[in-house]
Amino acid sequence: MDHFLYRDGILHAENVPLPEIAAAVGTPFYCYSVATLSRHYRLFDEALSWGDHLVCYAMKANSNLAVVKLMADLGAGVDVVSIGEYLKAKAAGMPGERIVFSGVGKTRDEMRIALEGGIRQFNVESEPEMIALNEVALSMDTVAPITVRVNPDVDAKTHAKIATGKSENKFGIPISRAHEVYAMAAAMPGLKVVGIDVHIGSQLTELEPFELAYAKVAELTRDLRAAGHEITRLDLGGGLGIPYARSNEAPPLPTDYGAMVQRVLGDLDVEVEIEPGRLIAGNAGVMVSKVIYVKEGEGRRFLILDSAMNDLIRPSMYEAFHDIVPVVEPEPGKDLTEYDVVGPVCESGDTFAKGRVLPDFKADDLVAFRSAGAYGAVMSSEYNSRPLIPEVLVSGEHFDVIRARPTFDDLINRDTIPVWL
Ligand SMILES: *Cc1c(COP(=O)(O)O)cnc(C)c1O
Repeated sequence: MDHFLYRDGILHAENVPLPEIAAAVGTPFYCYSVATLSRHYRLFDEALSWGDHLVCYAMKANSNLAVVKLMADLGAGVDVVSIGEYLKAKAAGMPGERIVFSGVGKTRDEMRIALEGGIRQFNVESEPEMIALNEVALSMDTVAPITVRVNPDVDAKTHAKIATGKSENKFGIPISRAHEVYAMAAAMPGLKVVGIDVHIGSQLTELEPFELAYAKVAELTRDLRAAGHEITRLDLGGGLGIPYARSNEAPPLPTDYGAMVQRVLGDLDVEVEIEPGRLIAGNAGVMVSKVIYVKEGEGRRFLILDSAMNDLIRPSMYEAFHDIVPVVEPEPGKDLTEYDVVGPVCESGDTFAKGRVLPDFKADDLVAFRSAGAYGAVMSSEYNSRPLIPEVLVSGEHFDVIRARPTFDDLINRDTIPVWL
């Protein structure tokens, strides 16, 4: 459940009518709901309440400082994948001991900054990275807490671009080589092994791939302990999917996920970490856009919006489906029309939906893209010199801009013309 509902025929974000925000900040814009974000965090927290755990919000899904601050206040940790995210998390008030650092290509500079600022653990993904981290820690006269990310070679049954747990993917070390790599880590005085990490992909709509992966991690935990390693923490990654098309998808709920984790790992006496991103932020956000033109093509009708692939790239990049709804609720029984919903960018790829059946629209009508809170604003760009769109946060009756729309001067002044030109 989210908090974007029609009231008196107008789509609201919590208690705020979306047209009111559109009038204040212009279109297009992203809008997030505090109540929904909080609810999703709590669902995970409760689903793991049978044991020691920390929900580490994967902030790459939505890294706005206000969203991260909300998570910090709720008691969450974060999963970061760059030092930029690390510094943003710190700036939002996230304590270092709740920050987990993931990613295949952490540089020595990134390691140094995180060790200086405080870190819960590094999820190490390769031997060369392990050697580098050991050297950096020793040079700072400190010890880096680590897990090793293992690649369990399971099929996550999701889009190829966001599957990460098969042996051909670039992530982690093959689980078959884990013993060797843990022995290597144990021999490095700059590292302290605290656990095992696994993350098999994103937008998973079944529990089975998770369960297969976690069963392998459980077995590995027992084996590594038998070999003398101290495994006190299991980082189980993120990846639980959300329903994008409301009608025909029912991905597992956090409650079912938590129960499965307990069944597979509950007897290991470990602290469990999970890293959900999409499920926390996805359905907690919408992108609101305005119709510029309705254009009659040959055998098709185009709905041309003021938002485009640079603002929300998921449909072009992952063939992703987003529910597109009118902000003013159509009267029952009103005519429906088939539209190709597109943006103004000069690429045919700038298509949000083809042949989508929607109520009749006219110029200046507002539409909302649902499920746009994760991997929306964070993946946007200024392609076609279209300024990034603003982000708004709603709580009850309040709304505030949490990232302002850059001006055209900002856009122009970002570049520099060399004096010799
Ligand atoms: C992307 C990512 C996540 C979050 O995935 P979601 O599908 O958004 O839950 C968690 N952990 C790691 C290591 C990731 O790369």
